[in-house]
Amino acid sequence: MPISATFQRALYPQLDTIASHFGTPFHIYDEAGIRQTCRGLKKAFAGIEEFKEYFAVKALPNPSILQIMREEGFGFDCSSVTELVMSRELGARGQDIMYTSNNTSSREFHLAQEQGGCILNLDDIALLDKVPQLPRQICFRYNPGNSRRGNEIIGTPEEAKYGVSRDQIVDAYRRAKKGGVERFGIHTMLASNELNYTYMVQTSHMLLNLAEEIEEALGLRFDFINIGGGLGIPYRPEDAPFDLKSMAAEITSQFLEYKQRRGYMPALYMESGRYMTGPHGVLVTRAINRKEIYRTYIGVDACMTALMRPAMYGAYHHIDVLGKESGAPQEVVDVVGSLCENNDKFAIQRQLPVIDDGDILIIQDTGAHGHAMGFNYNGKLRPQELILRENGSVEMIRRAETEDDYFRTLQFDRNVLEL
Ligand SMILES: *Cc1c(COP(=O)(O)O)cnc(C)c1O
Repeated sequence: MPISATFQRALYPQLDTIASHFGTPFHIYDEAGIRQTCRGLKKAFAGIEEFKEYFAVKALPNPSILQIMREEGFGFDCSSVTELVMSRELGARGQDIMYTSNNTSSREFHLAQEQGGCILNLDDIALLDKVPQLPRQICFRYNPGNSRRGNEIIGTPEEAKYGVSRDQIVDAYRRAKKGGVERFGIHTMLASNELNYTYMVQTSHMLLNLAEEIEEALGLRFDFINIGGGLGIPYRPEDAPFDLKSMAAEITSQFLEYKQRRGYMPALYMESGRYMTGPHGVLVTRAINRKEIYRTYIGVDACMTALMRPAMYGAYHHIDVLGKESGAPQEVVDVVGSLCENNDKFAIQRQLPVIDDGDILIIQDTGAHGHAMGFNYNGKLRPQELILRENGSVEMIRRAETEDDYFRTLQFDRNVLEL
């Protein structure tokens, strides 16, 4: 999807200057756009007595971005020790952090329960016996099995490794209650990049029904219902944007009905990643080679270590060529990186303006699961991250990796176990 008109207006006229100053490639994020999306989300759920978004840190794990989320009143959804450390460095404690891991180690639990703890979202009933100390408040991740479909990113629930099954879920809360847990939440996360808002409405409905069933069976009360993340963004120009307003309106009426039936309204939590930052980032890269064989290949100075979604999911990312936005002659090309894998392609048989060496390409919607999914295969290095501030300045918020970074984990001092 072409980036927002305001991001484009602020970015494109300055892009040559930014690229010469910082060098290419880089991801650049739009602070104003991120804040606007944060505020839109809160506004949409204003009818819920207590609404909170826990930004899924894995989507864009950079402290400068997390600071924005914190200023907007959001918490953090963490699934690793480094994400936990980063969130705490920003001052998040206790109820500000939801720890949603899978296959959790005891080291992770120990760290999660330090420094004021966090909300533990348990992924398996057996973990109840493995938590170093049973906290006062607990949440389980629910996996509804074949009663719901999933999607390609997460897999169908029945085949997905996440969560507590339908057969186990009531028992999980029974055992937690018996063990002394006093406060409860329930969570699920079934799909990612889902553009159909009714899917999320069904998820909320499913969790509220289940919460009610568990409340009646066990005589407890749910503090919160967490419907996960998974809201989609329109990557393709023909995709319709996610209908946040309709989703929020329908979920809000479910919560109001719940209150009528049960006399109270649980809090509603979400942990969106992609929806919050995805459209507010782009990968800027320069064309460096043009190759004409059976197809025409435009080689750029970024590769899939900067953005692996196209290779991993066959994902579409819209591409603009700076200064050639409209009216320029077109051709069909593959846009490729330098990694020795043939799926290192940002676009396949895409009609684009004719690209010359030195042209700047803007690969769009890289603000979530973009830089964060980067890797070092083939000795390739991850690019820098920049942010376009609301005042129009551009700040580097992560430098590019260097060869020295890559070699740092090699062991030069002798470390041998003689057997
Ligand atoms: C990845 C993830 C999210 C965020 O998913 P999006 O599709 O980016 O909204 C939220 N919760 C959990 C548990 C996740 O693993």
